[in-house]
Amino acid sequence: MIDAEKRPLPARLDVAIVGGGTAGCAAALHLADAGRRVALFEQRLAGAQASGQNYGGVRQQGRVPEELPLSFRARAIWDRLPALVGHDCGFRASGHVKLARTAAEFAELEAWAAMAKGFGLEVSLLTGNRLRAEHAYLGSWVFGGSHCASDGHANPRLVGPLFARAAERAGADLRECCPVAKLEREGAAFRLTLADGRSTVADAVLNTAGAWGADLAAQFGEIYDERVMSPNMVVTEPIAPIFAASFGVCGGDIYFRQTPRGNVVFGGGRGTADKSRLWSRPLAAVSAGAAAKMTAFIPAVAHAAVVRSWSGIDGAMPDDRPVLGPSPTVPGLFHAFGFSGHGFQLGPAVGEVLAELVLKGGTATDVSGLSPKRFLPGKAGAA
Ligand SMILES: Cc1cc2nc3c(=O)[nH]c(=O)nc-3n(C[C@H](O)[C@H](O)[C@H](O)COP(=O)(O)OP(=O)(O)OC[C@H]3O[C@@H](n4cnc5c(N)ncnc54)[C@H](O)[C@@H]3O)c2cc1C
Repeated sequence: MIDAEKRPLPARLDVAIVGGGTAGCAAALHLADAGRRVALFEQRLAGAQASGQNYGGVRQQGRVPEELPLSFRARAIWDRLPALVGHDCGFRASGHVKLARTAAEFAELEAWAAMAKGFGLEVSLLTGNRLRAEHAYLGSWVFGGSHCASDGHANPRLVGPLFARAAERAGADLRECCPVAKLEREGAAFRLTLADGRSTVADAVLNTAGAWGADLAAQFGEIYDERVMSPNMVVTEPIAPIFAASFGVCGGDIYFRQTPRGNVVFGGGRGTADKSRLWSRPLAAVSAGAAAKMTAFIPAVAHAAVVRSWSGIDGAMPDDRPVLGPSPTVPGLFHAFGFSGHGFQLGPAVGEVLAELVLKGGTATDVSGLSPKRFLPGKAGAA
């Protein structure tokens, strides 16, 4: 609730979560379900940053091998959202088509399909003629594509808040409008101090602070090169249904989907942002360039009026992969940040994995390729 900051803090917690995006809210739900005294601290409103500002793509396709086990786990959860949070969050398994404009791009799709097959994920490779036969609205300059039937899209505005409310119902203490100013060791536990000076102690801390995750880690001397990325997004007025699948293009410079209500949402290029002010803006020239590219792929959208454009703030890591796992230097501290523009699909599974790390000391999902240790090799195990 908005006025949560007025309530006194509990003296002691099992787990404090800093950051109320999907990752943090999902972790809060699972830890509360397991009976842990857990509080989630969010500087503004749950799900209002990247988790609520994104394009809404729920895709496994195109991910690096290090992310695939987590992505598969997440995909299974997307089907279970009604049972988990009481709502489907607008998720539709509409399929995701990745388009190639050239033979070289098509070769990339073939290589990715062969890699994914090794993980058990089947995607169909389609020639340009086959694509145009199946998707008659596509423009003539598509060389080919690949189709992942189990991918889809969802309404990002719903996911974080609904996980937050489900976590509250399970017993988590949700503190919105409560920025965490300081995190420090207190014996084997942590003292967490809010910007208004109130503080509490927790045995474990989850750093799910998104683009601000590296700032929290730095309070323990762990330095991560997390940059800000702010994808540029546009949405049109609702128009008659044209396409159901979500589309992306090799190279990622344009992606588009049509919502069940008819709005066409598309992204491409970057806006601008200042994370110290939680401020992000689209750029008109970038929006116009994305519109030109998108309508070249689906000319029938050209008549639709743009009703809004926006951007958001995500953390990006140098290797384009999130940081997920126990801190290499501080026992009891767990990181999940830097999702590099593709953490929306992963969020529900990130929460489960974090909860398992806290409760069991390990996770059944192979997230070794996302470990924070890859950035702090000299410090690993130094605690
Ligand atoms: C415009 C855009 C389009 C995108 N499109 C897609 C897409 O289609 N598909 C996809 O998979 N991914 C997409 N992404 C990426 C995805 O949205 C993010 O990777 C994901 O939402 C990150 O979730 P999170 O929970 O880690 O972070 P966030 O949702 O950013 O949550 C972190 C939270 O921590 C809070 N916080 C930070 N510091 C503190 C503090 N000191 N005290 C208290 N609270 C704090 C912040 O206020 C924030 O709410 C997109 C991102 C953007 C910005």
